Amino acid sequence: MKETKYVRRTFLQKYLKLVYLLAGSGTLLSLKSNAAKKQPANKTVPQDDPKNPCDDLSKVSADEIAKRKKLAYVNQSPVEDNQCGNCNLFIPAPDKPCGACLLFKGPVSPAGHCAYWAPINE
Ligand code: SF4
Repeated sequence: MKETKYVRRTFLQKYLKLVYLLAGSGTLLSLKSNAAKKQPANKTVPQDDPKNPCDDLSKVSADEIAKRKKLAYVNQSPVEDNQCGNCNLFIPAPDKPCGACLLFKGPVSPAGHCAYWAPINE
């Protein structure tokens, strides 16, 4: 009698493991296929505007471009009222569309932003 219970228990444990395994893999597959469906077919990556002088990085070294990326610099601030133009580290260039930043070299848009934005101390 004890052997029959033990065999039944072993069988149920193995069966439940198999069910959990199949259910888990089915869930993973459905999540993966849903993720693939959500991606647009022709995903376009926004390109910098070649006509905007603040996007011209042709004279900027790769190290400085890497610094920009590390600081998450963008030429259009996503945060209203937090822009390079009103940042304490911005170096304005009178009569020019682009200024500069104390943290890296190259043109900086007054409308830009990065992770180190700091309010001007007045
Ligand atoms: S620190 Fe950031 S937000 Fe401030 S001027 Fe430089 S790039 Fe712009």
